[in-house]
Amino acid sequence: MALIVQKYGGTSVGSVERIQAVAQRVHKTAKAGNSLVVVVSAMGKTTDGLVKLANGVSQNPNRREMDMLLSTGEQVTIALLSMALQEIGQPAISMTGAQVGIVTEAEHTRARILHIETDRLTRHLNLGKVVVVAGFQGIASTEELEITTLGRGGSDTSAVALAAALQANFCEIYTDVPGILTTDPRLVPEAQLMDEITSDEMLELASLGAKVLHPRAVEIARNYGVSLVVRSSWTDDPGTWVTSPQPQGRSLVNLEIARPVDGVEFDTNQAKVALLRVPDKPGVAARLFGEIARQKVDVDLIIQSIHEGNSNDIAFTVNTPILNRAEAVAAAIAPALRNQSQADEAEVMVEKNIAKVSIAGAGMIGRPGVAAQMFATLAAAGVNIQMISTSEVKVSCVVAASECDRAVVVLRTAFEIEDHEAGEVISIAPPPHTIPPVRGVALDMNQARLAIRQVADRPGMAAQLFGLLAKHNISIDMIIQSQRCRMVDGVPRRDIAFTVARIDGESTKNMLSQAAAEFGWGEVVLDSAIAKVSIVGAGMVGQPGVAAKMFEALAQHQINIQMIATSEIKISCVVAQEQGVEALQAIHSAFGLAGSEKFIVPA
Ligand code: ADP
Ligand code: ASP
Ligand code: MG
Repeated sequence: MALIVQKYGGTSVGSVERIQAVAQRVHKTAKAGNSLVVVVSAMGKTTDGLVKLANGVSQNPNRREMDMLLSTGEQVTIALLSMALQEIGQPAISMTGAQVGIVTEAEHTRARILHIETDRLTRHLNLGKVVVVAGFQGIASTEELEITTLGRGGSDTSAVALAAALQANFCEIYTDVPGILTTDPRLVPEAQLMDEITSDEMLELASLGAKVLHPRAVEIARNYGVSLVVRSSWTDDPGTWVTSPQPQGRSLVNLEIARPVDGVEFDTNQAKVALLRVPDKPGVAARLFGEIARQKVDVDLIIQSIHEGNSNDIAFTVNTPILNRAEAVAAAIAPALRNQSQADEAEVMVEKNIAKVSIAGAGMIGRPGVAAQMFATLAAAGVNIQMISTSEVKVSCVVAASECDRAVVVLRTAFEIEDHEAGEVISIAPPPHTIPPVRGVALDMNQARLAIRQVADRPGMAAQLFGLLAKHNISIDMIIQSQRCRMVDGVPRRDIAFTVARIDGESTKNMLSQAAAEFGWGEVVLDSAIAKVSIVGAGMVGQPGVAAKMFEALAQHQINIQMIATSEIKISCVVAQEQGVEALQAIHSAFGLAGSEKFIVPA
């Protein structure tokens, strides 16, 4: 007999008939001798409807009242599903998040789970009842016992957290697609179903726009080793398993907020090549990285962003032994990359003595304070950051090699990492050939790009900026500082560009514009009409040519790349918003991810 947590999403409980079908499935599993906790979402598009109502009453609804309102959606479903179960002879009881004791922080509309009381659940389970729990909601442990919600899509997180707390045998997420596909089947009907995906890969995909799983649900599954599967609520097909590393025996106290960082890593075997002032037009990155791939040079990090003068800087890192080859390719191609507006050719810059220092761990999603703490720690130690790469499980900084040891020591202290927990990553072993270089492709149409011009280049600059953003709880992604430096008033200055959620765009711009005056930064520019398209795959490590293929697919469709940022297992490009879907389709097809079958997603 197993203890199973099942979660049914909005579409799966969208009508009385659907709720009855879910009841049948639950009953069947229970009859087979299993104990069951069932987490449900609000019916169909109920939550969207409630948000609309709130917006009709107020332009800026109070967040506490928003939680009060949105949490009602799930309460309807738990009662109806319990009734449907009882109707077919299955003992069942519904419970709200508060009744279970899903205790969260008091952060309305984006609360994190602190702990889950399991006594009441266990008591009902032992009486042979199915417990139907309202997803997406909890209760703050403040005196007022405030109702909280976890953020849109948060029922997945409720389910996986319950599975972790109850030490369930596994957690099944039932939804309106057959499992996790290579991309969103609504945009690419030829997307293919995967049998399995690692939690690291899924964390990236989920955070980069694949809404099939809430990223925080994946984070909890990874940290607690919860066996997690995504399946269709329409069929009995096996779905997609999300595989996690062996759990480290974490405490269930402060479930979602304990220890965001597990380790500090460093790699002193790195060198950087930068091309400054390359033209801002389709095909440039494809050409450069195409040639690099032909020379079998494996690049690690890549960043590109447009800067002052409307031209791009592209920089990449390679392992030191292949620096000469990488430099030769860049130097050979530079004269051909002439920027018409400036009538001068791209300039190649090489930096031999650099190191990459990273913090790693699954607990950084939606917590901008973690990266901010890393940058503040480096700033306090006087370490200047040359490049930044962020992913859902890692923040890496490129620093001078001479400062690497110091950086590692201060970071280990700041994040309370014991020596034996951290490893020196001299070279990452390429994964076995069976792992595909690209597992999936994601599109995020809800981002905006911000740029700050002329920020003084000295230690502490990233700390200042991230500290400010963290204070306002704004998570940023794809942060890129220009490689070129310009002297203004005797101070070297760089541009910084990054992306934020579109809803944060205007307010972030206003907040930064005010700060700009105070800190002596230049203009702050906002572009909301962007799309971010990303490829994710643990198998891209040590495989030259993956980036080139992505850039080439975009070039063939005449799609200009506005920004590039990578981590070890993902490459993201910002393109114009109206080209987002075309970019996704082009890339999905270029990597041969399309299957012969087409998926029809139920309405
Ligand atoms: P639920 O209401 O069950 O939680 P969601 O709408 O939140 O369902 O998530 C399922 C949807 O996620 C699918 O209908 C699909 O359009 C979308 N989706 C985006 N990317 C992917 C992907 N890579 N694989 C599967 N579905 C995806
Ligand atoms: N009902 C909530 C939403 O629509 C939570 C969920 O469905 O996961 O966002
Ligand atoms: Mg969902």
